[in-house]
Amino acid sequence: MNKLKVGIIGGGIAGSSVALYLSKLGIDVTLFEKSKSLVNGPPICHLHAGGNLYREISDKQCLTLLKESIELIQLYPQAIDYRPTVVAVPLEDSGSPKELIRRLVLLQGEYQKLILKDSKNKVLGDATEYFKLFSRDDLESLKLKELVKTPRDLEEWMIPVAKNLDLEKLQFPVIMVQEYGINLFRLAAVVSLELAGSSYAKVLTQTSVKAIVKKESSYEVKYREGSIEKTQEFRYIVNAAGFKSGEIDDMLGFSRERLVEFKAAYVTKCESFSEGWPEVIFYGERGTPNGMAQFTPYPNGYFQLHGMTNSITLFDQGLVKSTQYSSQPQLEKKFLNKIYKGWSLGDIESRTAAAIDHLAQYIPIFKNAKMMSKPLFGAQQIPGEDATLRAANVSFEGTNYARCEIVKASSVLTMADAITQKLIKFKYLDASIYRGRVSKHNLNESEIVALAEKFAQERFYPISLAGRCFSKN
Ligand SMILES: Cc1cc2nc3c(=O)[nH]c(=O)nc-3n(C[C@H](O)[C@H](O)[C@H](O)COP(=O)(O)OP(=O)(O)OC[C@H]3O[C@@H](n4cnc5c(N)ncnc54)[C@H](O)[C@@H]3O)c2cc1C
Repeated sequence: MNKLKVGIIGGGIAGSSVALYLSKLGIDVTLFEKSKSLVNGPPICHLHAGGNLYREISDKQCLTLLKESIELIQLYPQAIDYRPTVVAVPLEDSGSPKELIRRLVLLQGEYQKLILKDSKNKVLGDATEYFKLFSRDDLESLKLKELVKTPRDLEEWMIPVAKNLDLEKLQFPVIMVQEYGINLFRLAAVVSLELAGSSYAKVLTQTSVKAIVKKESSYEVKYREGSIEKTQEFRYIVNAAGFKSGEIDDMLGFSRERLVEFKAAYVTKCESFSEGWPEVIFYGERGTPNGMAQFTPYPNGYFQLHGMTNSITLFDQGLVKSTQYSSQPQLEKKFLNKIYKGWSLGDIESRTAAAIDHLAQYIPIFKNAKMMSKPLFGAQQIPGEDATLRAANVSFEGTNYARCEIVKASSVLTMADAITQKLIKFKYLDASIYRGRVSKHNLNESEIVALAEKFAQERFYPISLAGRCFSKN
């Protein structure tokens, strides 16, 4: 087994998690990442434990996201922000909150079944508390209650929301669901520390893969480490290059249909808000001026904002697809400039202001919020041609090439499992060695905090974004 050498191209959440998973099975992995640190691609803030942000996706995708999110919490508990999400439907929206209840009941039943199967799956609280509906009267009475610093139940979580939402603008019931947050910087710190401690994983940051040549039963990878050109041979390749996965496919002549989408979220601070907020979502039709608004809390009054309109999170021409000539969708230069060279201050200011206005429609006091940094942004891939796909994992070519295609972070374990099963199927890995997933980390909290804050600073974000509001379930 030690003869198996796996080359993983791309150290985002997909590539880093595969590296961790395989190295814990005793497989030699080399992880190539062109940027300075791991998990430094597009942002991740919401753990889609039930897919409740997406009305348009199938029940099947929601159930998959629920199961996968439970697994991700078990894999990276130190990166989870243990606070729920409020889902509100504005009056002007064509949908109704009542339409969501059937699916919530389905998800609740599934969560209960997963707990019965294995009590370790109980990571989202009691199944009976997976979601809760709040009528207008409920919210009016919660308005009168004192804020609670460390909320103990869904009612206490709802108090700041009841006090600050413009209830005249909403339909009822308002829903609260146990979809938690996931902290990008802590996630980056956890995988970096874990991989640094592994004798099977070699992490090459600031190292770009330039070409791959297929040999009879291996691949020759040509890469640049700093200013030095090098070559290494691998028996198995994992393409985890995120929105650049098509470039790796093109190097090997593999044809694959995919979409690439550029999006951004905005970093703000509102002094009037104390700690103890859940995440809050206001539904709306994507791509219209009423697109969904998303309000994600961080410590010290910081909030990350999404608005699914073309002047906030989405961009005209921001969604592109592959062609019959290339598996790599081509984003316009203006997006690549944003990714590689940065944003103009004017652009940051105008889009952040639009995001604040979008949220302040429903949370009026939020109009006092201020822009705090450049946005969290980037491009991501979606395999196939359905832009609404949210639960995807991995595809394969031949016997020694895997292509990571996650759309949501939660899918990483399904993806790593599938790669491992292929390694067993093609006899790279002895089935007897595989004892299931190895997921225990024994990291020190202060090490995680220090590295997460270092990453936030290096990437020019406020260090508050490296913190989580609630560390315990
Ligand atoms: C605005 C926005 C908000 C989002 N919010 C969420 C969310 O709340 N929850 C969620 O689950 N998902 C969210 N996503 C999606 C999520 O960010 C992506 O699904 C995820 O980052 C994909 O991870 P990845 O590892 O596949 O790709 P990436 O994170 O893009 O990693 C790929 C890595 O490969 C490296 N690379 C590429 N080519 C080469 C090469 N030739 N040599 C060496 N290295 C290379 C890149 O530098 C990069 O680090 C969001 C996306 C966006 C854009």
